[in-house]
Amino acid sequence: MPQVFKRIVIVGGGTAGWMAAAALNHYLKDQSTVVTVIESSAIGSIGVGEATIPNIVQFNRNLGIDEIEFIKATKATFKLGIQFEKWSVTCDKFFHPFADYGTTIDNVEFHQYINHMRASGHNASLKSYSFACVLANYGNFAQPHPNPPSPLADYAYAYHFDAGRYAAFLKNWCTARGVEHIDGLINETKLRVDNGFIKSVVLEDSTEISGDFFIDCSGFQGLLIEKSLQTGYEDWSKYLLCDRAVAMQTKSVGEPDPFTRSIAHDNGWQWHIPLQHRTGNGYIYASRFQNQDSAEQQLKNNIIGEAINEPRHLRFTPGRRLKIWNKNCFAIGLASGFLEPLESTSISLIQTALAKLLTFFPDSSFNQADIDEVNRLHNHEMENIRDFLILHYKLSGRDDSEFWRTCRDMEIPATLQHKINLFKSRGHIVMHENESFEKSSWLTMYNAFGVIPNRQDPRAELVSTQLIASKLSQMQQSIDGAAKQAMSHQQFIDKHCRAPQN
Ligand SMILES: Cc1cc2nc3c(=O)[nH]c(=O)nc-3n(C[C@H](O)[C@H](O)[C@H](O)COP(=O)(O)OP(=O)(O)OC[C@H]3O[C@@H](n4cnc5c(N)ncnc54)[C@H](O)[C@@H]3O)c2cc1C
Repeated sequence: MPQVFKRIVIVGGGTAGWMAAAALNHYLKDQSTVVTVIESSAIGSIGVGEATIPNIVQFNRNLGIDEIEFIKATKATFKLGIQFEKWSVTCDKFFHPFADYGTTIDNVEFHQYINHMRASGHNASLKSYSFACVLANYGNFAQPHPNPPSPLADYAYAYHFDAGRYAAFLKNWCTARGVEHIDGLINETKLRVDNGFIKSVVLEDSTEISGDFFIDCSGFQGLLIEKSLQTGYEDWSKYLLCDRAVAMQTKSVGEPDPFTRSIAHDNGWQWHIPLQHRTGNGYIYASRFQNQDSAEQQLKNNIIGEAINEPRHLRFTPGRRLKIWNKNCFAIGLASGFLEPLESTSISLIQTALAKLLTFFPDSSFNQADIDEVNRLHNHEMENIRDFLILHYKLSGRDDSEFWRTCRDMEIPATLQHKINLFKSRGHIVMHENESFEKSSWLTMYNAFGVIPNRQDPRAELVSTQLIASKLSQMQQSIDGAAKQAMSHQQFIDKHCRAPQN
């Protein structure tokens, strides 16, 4: 008879480990299963990963976490999207909002009208029809209304938060609800002789901790999924050239932007993440083209504000674990793979992996069909994100360094080429199963990188440019008026969720 687990062991107490513990504790609360988190304070967690995408809001909400309490505890700010600077040869900067543009008219997508207007010689800029873009441009913030009176105000937001504080916040939340916490260094994993499943982990002091199901949140090394089970890793560095990072925190200067900044450089790009108490900065680069010392100098030359810690260097191999679920081990977070932080997808992948785990939650029979389906879904999801990230580099148009020329000339996956071809054909935006980014995100990129459909949608051409121009003008005015009236991001924080200064 299949049995409910007695103990689930989570290895790792970074963002992934504590998010996993919180979700399992919450959703398994009526079962007798004990959830144990083992982490090593001597190793610590990676300490980066501070920009998110909107599904984090729902993750906290589903757990019943109070938003204001969370924001104060993690010194978070709000994020309406990402401002890309020096990425495209067609514009100095552009904004990727968590929002749609305009509204569908007569079942025809909004951007088809914009194409039609442009082809007819009118100057129509997409960003003016996204409330989030305009709000961000003013440096303002407002929370979306659950039932917006106008679809133009339909947008989402995410957070920038202090990763260490988020893990600590969840740790308190979990341990107060019965999650067991062990601080100890694992130096051995024991496998069952009969089936190769994980039997236990052994700590430095020889304590052996057995479990029925193991969640590997041990970071890049994949202590269980790779070191013990040798699951394998698919390296995507031929598509995503950046494989190093240097991170540094600085004192805040001025009011926080309600967005992440991503600034392209000759051999990679730099992030700027404003929190309430400090700013997170980092530079992601390709080690084929730049060495560590030069990368560190590059970051130091481009940060604003006084540094508050020493630069931290990180190495990674963009790619994915071949399976996130192997036998009785499920890998989440960096242990399951890492692409790069360009669109802040890693924490979101923690969430979606947890969602799949909960949907296909095993018992002691470990049904292989369920395991295979989770791996299939996850692989699709990673491929879709990979393609979206590659698009940024491939279409940038920059050719001012070897790095950018390599990006321009590199082969891209057939799945991405197919999408680009269809957009070029007539503005079709193709969506696959398990996409993390909406059509509007793909549209943002095509638009910013100057990819223009060769033909127009005949349905959009049926509407006169005069009528479209008048609708566009109304939309623009209503968006601009509402965005201008909103509070500044700083005022919003001060009024609703200012963190104590400690
Ligand atoms: C440069 C960079 C920038 C990033 N930026 C973003 C971003 O903006 N947004 C985003 O969503 N994601 C980002 N990420 C990814 C994000 O940092 C991770 O997804 C997130 O922090 C989760 O990490 P983790 O918990 O999997 O691993 P870690 O934080 O590395 O945690 C590993 C845990 O395992 C424990 N451990 C390891 N070995 C042992 C052992 N032998 N015994 C006991 N315990 C052990 C450690 O103590 C630690 O608690 C970024 C990543 C990098 C590299």
